[in-house]
Formats: sequence, structure tokens, C-alpha cells
Amino acid sequence: MLAAGISPEIRAKYEPVIGLEVHVQLLTATKAFCGCANKFGAEPNTNICPVCLGLPGALPVLNEKAVEFAAQASLAIHCTINPRSIFARKNYFYPDLPKGYQISQFDKPLAEHGYIDVPTADGSIKRIGITRLHMEEDAGKSLHDGFTDSSTRTYLDLNRCGTPLIEIVSEPDIRTPDEAFEYLTRLREILLFTGVSDCNMEEGSLRCDANVSIRPKGQEKFGTKAEVKNVNSFRYIRAALEYEIERQIELVESGGRVVQETRLWNANEGRTYSMRSKEQAHDYRYFPEPDLPPLVLTPEFLELRLAELPELPEARRARMISEYDLTEQDSRTLTASREFADRFEAAAKTAKNPRRVANVLLSEVGGRLKALGLEQEASPVSMAGIVLAADLLDEGKISSKQLKQLLDMCFEKGEDFLAVYEREKPQQITDTGALETLIDEVIAANPKQLEQYRGGKKTVAGFFVGQVMRASKGQANPALLNELVTKKLDA
Ligand code: ADP
Ligand code: ZN
Ligand code: MG
Repeated sequence: MLAAGISPEIRAKYEPVIGLEVHVQLLTATKAFCGCANKFGAEPNTNICPVCLGLPGALPVLNEKAVEFAAQASLAIHCTINPRSIFARKNYFYPDLPKGYQISQFDKPLAEHGYIDVPTADGSIKRIGITRLHMEEDAGKSLHDGFTDSSTRTYLDLNRCGTPLIEIVSEPDIRTPDEAFEYLTRLREILLFTGVSDCNMEEGSLRCDANVSIRPKGQEKFGTKAEVKNVNSFRYIRAALEYEIERQIELVESGGRVVQETRLWNANEGRTYSMRSKEQAHDYRYFPEPDLPPLVLTPEFLELRLAELPELPEARRARMISEYDLTEQDSRTLTASREFADRFEAAAKTAKNPRRVANVLLSEVGGRLKALGLEQEASPVSMAGIVLAADLLDEGKISSKQLKQLLDMCFEKGEDFLAVYEREKPQQITDTGALETLIDEVIAANPKQLEQYRGGKKTVAGFFVGQVMRASKGQANPALLNELVTKKLDA
């Protein structure tokens, strides 16, 4: 994936500087300036009207829901919202832009001066500044492939014209491809929790352009940047940036100069290609949109948005760790989506031991799903089933071995734990005499471990419990077994 090899020594002489521009489609029912449906995957050119095509005489009307979403996103990334912002026309020619201009914001954006905190390699937290968040509209799509005459024609699907977008521009604060990946991961997670977008990269609802430059370590002045477009999957962010960094270093090392340009990432070849020399802001002939008044937001409007803001992922993880005694890793898995976290929390509140609910959900059920390559939604075991399993374990009514057996049955038959448990009601040996006989046999067969235990290595008790549990085919009542083993060993 790398450019022709540069040595690690030469790589280490340079520091990359990265700034990201992220476009996010908002989850409104209708488009930004007209009543057309805002949805992915419709028959081409069916969700269009004179406004989103920019036919003469058509006038845009701003979608209030888009402003609400944009304001919420701004608050979630700690931006200051300008009470008065201005829409502007960004003029350029492209076949998928029938209007000949895009309604955007330029010198007075909706929001500015935010940040996102990201974890770094050494475990510390780094704050990445956000320059601005502005509102704009999407363009249509050129379809270059998939038709019998695709070698000679390009088709246009204008459904996407006028889809509401926010563009989030970071400061050039990012220094490594890993930091860029973390920044995007955090940003996506925050937007998902806020509910303003589905952030689906395959469908193009989240798109990222990466600006990259290099400078000799220790030099303050930034180098000339290249902008890499078309990195349409999280998987490729690191690879695309690493490629571009090495390409620039190689160029500079061989006496060349980085030119300001737009480059396209080609995932198949694992490299970037020059697309065009970078246009400057003045090339777009920005001017205030004459058909839309300034966007004025009242303090009441902003207060409402703040009140609606949900608990954000980082804060939620911290609370869940302390409230349910979870590990950091479990809290991450449980906050993979807001829905999943909600489902877990609702279940955890009804269970005796929330941490055990997390264990059953993530390790036992999650482990089986993963082994089968299934998503959480495809699980045969309901949350109620998971709570029952956790409670039974907690009360010692089933052993962990029995839990595994029951869950195996659930997955074999595609049945919920509630049903399987009701039918199987696994046997438990709660007869003290019977258990004691088993314990005596196991102790007699393992004199070395007994000696270790009596020599002070108390953890060996676990070995005996495990052996007896096995001898009982997993049917010993765990609480009683523990108690009897300790009693016998200490006798
Ligand atoms: P332009 O005017 O070319 O669009 P901007 O100053 O608006 O450039 O910045 C666009 C993006 O590029 C921002 O995310 C910013 O952080 C980033 N950026 C700016 N200068 C550099 C640089 N020298 N190296 C890397 N990224 C940069
Ligand atoms: Zn329309
Ligand atoms: Mg710019």
C-alpha cells in the first residue's frame, strides 16, 4: 500500500499535518430548500422539483428541521453558534449541479470554534479543534458505470440535489493517520448519538476529504497541502493518508515540491492520483444568496436544541462504568450505538446484577453471534432472556456450564432463552450428601493440589470447584458447591 519504500529514518524526519473536511447528510424527511423527499435509493430522478433543479423562477424555502439538526450537531461538538448566519452561492459548473451553484455558507457560517477530544497512542487525550460547521446542499450523482453504454455515456441521477448537508472543518491539528481515524470515529459516534444523520459511508451520508502536508520536524511553518478526496470508507482513511504522506516525503527528498492540488484516492490500487489543481475560494465567486434571508436563531431556539441534546458517548460511557461496574471495553461495546446502549440500560435496571447482564450479553451471546457472523439484531436470545440468564446465574440456580449448554440450544434451534429454559429446567444437584461424595473423590484424586491449598495457596479452591463441577456434568448448585468445597478443604 505504500509509495516506493522510504526508510523509517527518512520518514521520521518529517511530521505530517492533517485537517479533515467532513460532509454529513442530515436525516430530515424532506430536502433543504423544497418539499421533495430526502431518501436514499429511490428510482433515479423521481424526487426532484423546480427548486432543487434550480429552474428559473423557483424559490428556495429553508427546512426548519435541517436547521435544528445542524444546530444540535454544532452544540454536540462544542461549537459556538452564530445567532445570525448567511447563506451564500458557491458557483461552479458540473453536470450533477444543474443550478450552476450550490447554496452553502461562506464568511458567516452557522457555527465556529468547536473541538473533539480523541484518545492518542500514549493513552492521553488530544483536543482537535473544529474551525467551523456550516450548512449547505448536496449535488446530484453522475453514474459512470453499470449501463450497457457506460463506455460512451454518463447518466445523471439528480435525486440527491438539495439534500441538506453540514460540513465540519477541522483545524490542521491532526498529526498522524491514527489520530485522523480516531477523530472521524468520535465525530461519527457523536453525530449518530445526536441522531442528526445515519452516517452511512457506503450510501454517502458521511464523506471525508483529507488535507495533508508534511514539514521537517521542528519547523513551525506548514508545508503545502494536497487534498485527498474519495476516501469513502473508514477502512481506507489510514491507508490513504499514509500513502499520501509517503508520496510527499519522497517527492521532497528527491528535490521536488508538493503542489497544491486535489487528489483522488483509488482503493483498488491503494494510491492517490492527481485530479486537478486546487481551486481557490475566489474561483467560486461566492456571494450572498439573494433568495434567502439571513438565518437568525433566537436564544429560545438554541436553548431548546441544548435541552434536546442526548447524553453523548464519552459521558455516557463514564456514567455506565460507574453505575453498572463495567469494564472500559464493555462500556465501549455497549455504546456501539445509542439503541444498543438504551436496550442494555433498560434491561440492566430490571436485573439483580447489571455487570452480569453485560457479561451474558457481550461474552456469551455476543461471542456466539460473532462466531456465526451475525449482527445483534439477528440474535435468537431476547434481552428478557438475557436478564433471566443473568439472574439465574446470580442466584446460583444454574451454573455457567449449564448457561453455555442452554445458550448452545438457543442458537441451534433459533429459540429464545426464555423458552429453552422453561422446557429444559436443567437439573441441579442440591443434595449436600451427593455433592460431598463427589468432593471427597476429587480431593482424594488430587493430593498435590490439596497440599498446595493447605500450604496457603487459597486460589487452588477454584481448581477443586471446577473439577467437581465437571464430575457433576455441570449440574452442581454453584453456591452450595463453593461452600462445601471450602469447608472440606479447610477441614
Ligand atoms: P482551503 O482554503 O484550501 O480550502 P482551508 O484553510 O479552508 O483551505 O482549510 C481546509 C482544510 O485543510 C482544513 O481542514 C484545514 O485544517 C486543513 N489545512 C489547512 N492548511 C493545511 C496544511 N498546511 N496542511 C494540512 N492541512 C491543512
Ligand atoms: Zn425539490
Ligand atoms: Mg476552505
